[in-house]
Amino acid sequence: MSASNDSGFRVSPDVQNFLDRRHSHFINGQWSGDSGRDSIPVINPTTETVISHIVAGTAEDVDDAVSAARGAFPAWRAVKPAARAQILWKIADLIERDAPMLTELEFLDNGKPLLHARRGDVAAAIETFRYFAGWCTKIYGRTATLSKPGNIHAYTVKEPVGVVGLIIPWNFPLLMAAWKLAPALAAGCTTILKPAEETSLSALRLAELLTEAGVPDGVVNVVTGYGHVVGAALAAHDNVDKVSFTGSTEVGKLIVRAATGNLKKVSLELGGKSPVIVLPDADVDQAAQSVADGIFHNAGQICAAGSRTYIHRSIYDAVLEKLHTKAETLRIGPGHKPDTQMGPLVSAKHRQRVARYVDNSIKSGSTLVTGGTTVGDCGFFYKPTIISGTTIQAPIVQEEVFGPVLVAEAYDDLDQAISWSNNSIYGLVARVWTKDIAVQHYLAEKLEAGTISFNAGGGPDPNLPFGGYKQSGWGREHGEDGLELFLQTKSVLVGY
Ligand code: NAP
Ligand code: MG
Repeated sequence: MSASNDSGFRVSPDVQNFLDRRHSHFINGQWSGDSGRDSIPVINPTTETVISHIVAGTAEDVDDAVSAARGAFPAWRAVKPAARAQILWKIADLIERDAPMLTELEFLDNGKPLLHARRGDVAAAIETFRYFAGWCTKIYGRTATLSKPGNIHAYTVKEPVGVVGLIIPWNFPLLMAAWKLAPALAAGCTTILKPAEETSLSALRLAELLTEAGVPDGVVNVVTGYGHVVGAALAAHDNVDKVSFTGSTEVGKLIVRAATGNLKKVSLELGGKSPVIVLPDADVDQAAQSVADGIFHNAGQICAAGSRTYIHRSIYDAVLEKLHTKAETLRIGPGHKPDTQMGPLVSAKHRQRVARYVDNSIKSGSTLVTGGTTVGDCGFFYKPTIISGTTIQAPIVQEEVFGPVLVAEAYDDLDQAISWSNNSIYGLVARVWTKDIAVQHYLAEKLEAGTISFNAGGGPDPNLPFGGYKQSGWGREHGEDGLELFLQTKSVLVGY
């Protein structure tokens, strides 16, 4: 049955069938029984309507999933690298085949525009699986020449870490699953994936595609539910060897504490408060466009969002005027309309949180350049917002708002801009607009962030390590560094 909702979007029949299912966990290659379990409504952020239900998992469900992953580990790690590579490549092919359905699910579940979901999330998920398919056949150790006496042949081997828990946020649901599953599977690990409670649908569909691609039962298990129940049980589980987490810094700290029981490995991709410095020689149009894209794309719900901009005073008014115009002309609305540039925020609760940051900032004396209000009476929309006249210690300057809210200030001296940029507990990305190559090298050294980008957006690429300095995280995803997070090194000595 094809249905339509308030926004006028016609849900396609296969998506409607999927939404109408009684969802459950995916454990050991099967949908686990759901009778008598608590469910969580899935809300469409564009229409505020309930479109489906997922199961609220328990610690026992996590136990079952961990047992399945443990049971599947010996056989999965023994699969020859070329065969693993073929399976990863096939996963990418199946995501590509089902791109329309996955795109629609991301739009309905998260609210992001269809075009962004297709060209961003789904395309990047495909690319991620293909990239890590290539790594399966390129994992090897080294030989070591030892200084100790005797004839000893020594070498290292890379082995999978084991059973890993993957906990992901709601801002790029399918893509965050891909970022974790692709390297984990390439390394030979078995997994339990815990999607965000707001956006679990694409992970549930992905589980079916993994099986179709030839991923053996138990290698990928999906347990849905609340973070403080399912996520916490996974982080604390004694039979889990590692947790890879993407989410807020606050929850990242809870994960670290929970992991101490068996000292499991932990890697963390956490929050950010990424600065954008615009120097006087910058191309004003390009810089303004990039600053706007960097904070308004995905309604600012991006860990790497450029949420603070420091613009040289000589061009501050010119850049701010362009930013102001861009914010006011950005087309906000339901994401199925092809000209929509920004959809709603993910939930009512999240919009309240964003609005509270803005309201408190204005109350404490900063200037609202534009925005600062909700839009319409249906959907969790919030206007692109620019604030200036802040103090360096203000919450809106120090804390991650995770919405379309930009702090824009003028600086006089480059070292002042550097100091403001680095005055943060975070260090995910820093972006700079200048053509001066000497200044570029100076700033590349001085700025404290895992990624520094000059005259470029600074979005992630599977072949470029991505992650945080300071409280933005532990470890790097992508590239060989990302694979390493799922491997451990064994040293072997053979006397002869
Ligand atoms: P969040 O609240 O930290 O949640 C992330 C995940 O952790 C969700 O699946 C959540 O479950 C789960 N969780 C919550 N409490 C938990 C606990 N006590 N133990 C274990 N797991 C728990 O973050 P979010 O609000 O979903 O996402 C926004 C945050 O993610 C932002 O701070 C953003 O910067 C960060 N992020 C970082 C990156 C990066 O690569 N650095 C990328 C994307 C997002 P439920 O929510 O389902 O209850
Ligand atoms: Mg939802």
